[in-house]
Amino acid sequence: MAYKTINPYNNELIKEYPNATDAEISNALALGDNLYHQWKKEPVSSRQAKLHEIADLMRQKSEELAKVLTVEMGKLIGEARGEVELCALIADYFADHSEAGLQPTVIKTSAGDAQVVKEAVGVLMMVEPWNFPYYQIMRVFAPNFMVGNPMVLKHSSNTPTSAVEFEKIVKEAGAPDGSLTNLFLSHDQVDQVIADPRIQGVALTGSERGGSSVAQAAGKYLKKSSMELGGSDAFVVLADADLDQVIKTAARARAYNAGQVCTSSKRFIVADSLYDEFLKRMAAEFDKLKPGDPLDEKTTLAPLSSAKAKQTLQKQVDDAVAAGAKVYFGNQPIDLPGQFFQPTILTDIAKDNPAFYQEMFGPVAQVYRVSSEEAAIELANDSHYGLGGIVFSGTAEHGKKVAEQIETGMVFVNSPLYTLPELPFGGIKRSGYGREMSSIGLKAFVNEKLIVTSDHPDFNNAKGGLF
Ligand code: NAP
Repeated sequence: MAYKTINPYNNELIKEYPNATDAEISNALALGDNLYHQWKKEPVSSRQAKLHEIADLMRQKSEELAKVLTVEMGKLIGEARGEVELCALIADYFADHSEAGLQPTVIKTSAGDAQVVKEAVGVLMMVEPWNFPYYQIMRVFAPNFMVGNPMVLKHSSNTPTSAVEFEKIVKEAGAPDGSLTNLFLSHDQVDQVIADPRIQGVALTGSERGGSSVAQAAGKYLKKSSMELGGSDAFVVLADADLDQVIKTAARARAYNAGQVCTSSKRFIVADSLYDEFLKRMAAEFDKLKPGDPLDEKTTLAPLSSAKAKQTLQKQVDDAVAAGAKVYFGNQPIDLPGQFFQPTILTDIAKDNPAFYQEMFGPVAQVYRVSSEEAAIELANDSHYGLGGIVFSGTAEHGKKVAEQIETGMVFVNSPLYTLPELPFGGIKRSGYGREMSSIGLKAFVNEKLIVTSDHPDFNNAKGGLF
C-alpha cells in the first residue's frame, strides 16, 4: 500500500490506506459530474453558508486537526495551528468575495449588449503536496467550491490522514457529496482520471518533476491546468539594509516548516559590506533552534517530513560540498531517531556546483556575496525558478526599484513573504504557471463566456469581421 502515515519524529507507522479501486474512481466522477449539473442551476451565493461552516468547523476542531498535521508530517504544533487558521481565513474570504468576483463583465461594443459571464466548467482533478497538507487543498477548494466546480483530490502518499480529515470537515459542514472526493490514486490512476471527459481542469502543487508529468497528461487530453511548483527564492540584502530587521526575517524565512516551503528563501544574496556580519548572525539564529518532539511547544526545530526527504537533502549538501561549497554552519547529525536535519549554511557555491540551480527542500541556506546591486539582481535572476523573493533595503522605495527587476511571481520588500487569500500566489519559469487565490485564482477554472444580445441584426452597418 503506497499511502502511509508515518510519524517522522519517531518513525512509527500509524496507518496505511489501500489504493482507490476502479469502482471508487467511477463513483467519484459520477458524483462530481452530477453535482456540477445540479450546481449550475443554483446561484453562487447558495454555497456561501456551507463554506463559512467549513471555516467554523476548522476553527472548532483546530487542536485535533493541527495534531494530525504534526504527527503526519512533523511540523511544529504552533505552526500546525497557524495552518488550520489560515485555511479558515481562506474559506471565509472566498465565501464572502466570490459572488462579487464572479459578476459578469460588461463590454462596450457596437455589436449589441455584450457581457462576459463566469460559469463553472465541471469536475477538477487536484494533486497536492505534503508540506502544508490542509492549506494546499484549501487554496483550490475554497474558490472552486464557490464557482461550482466539484473536485477530486489526490494527496501526497505520505499525508493521507490529512486528506481524510479535510474531506470529513467538508462532509460534516453539509456540503453535498461530490464537492470534494478524496481518492488514494496511483500516478497511473491520476492520468486515467485526467483522461475522463468529465474532468475539465487539473490543478497541481508539487515538484517540477511531478508537475511536468501531470501537465503532460493534462496537455495530452487538452485539459486546462495550473502548476504551482518549486522555487529557489532569492533573499536580497542591499547595502543600505538594516541588519537587525534582515536577520529576524531571514532565519525564519529559511527555517519555518523545517525549511520545506516552496517560497522559503533559499538563496541569500548579500551586499559585500554586510556579508560577514550576516553570516555570523544567521548562524547564531540557527544555533538557537532546538530539535525535539514537534508536539512539544518548546521545540523550535521540527523533523523533516520523511526519511526520503532527509536522504535527498543530505545528498544535495554532500554533493555541494564535494563540488567546492563550504559549510559555514551546521550539517552535523542530530542525535534523535526522527528525521532531523541541522540548519546549515553553505557558502562559496560556484555556478558549476550542482547546488547552484537546485531547490533544497529543508533548512539549508545558500549564502552568496555580491559587490553591487546589479550583481545582486543578476544572481537573483540566474535561476531556473521564479516563484517568490524578498528584498531588504534602507527604504521601501529603493527596495521596490530592485524588486521590479527580479524575474519572479511574487516579491516582498522589507517584509517576510505572506500568503493571504486576497494575494495571488504562483510563479514563472520552472516554478509553474497560473495563480491560486485572489480574484485571479477564483477565475482559474471558469468559462468566461461571451453573450451578446441585440434586438435587430443589422448586416448592412456591421463593423469588424462578420462570421
Ligand atoms: P511531488 O513529488 O511533485 O508531489 C506532489 C504531489 O504530486 C503528490 O500528491 C504526488 O503524489 C503527486 N505526484 C508526483 N508525481 C506524480 C505523477 N507522475 N503523477 C501523478 N501524481 C504525481 O512534490 P513533493 O516533493 O511532495 O512537494 C514538494 C515540492 O512542492 C517542492 O518542490 C515545493 O517547492 C513544491 N511546492 C510548491 C508550492 C507552490 O505553491 N508553488 C507549494 C508547496 C510546495 P505521490 O506522493 O503519490 O508521489
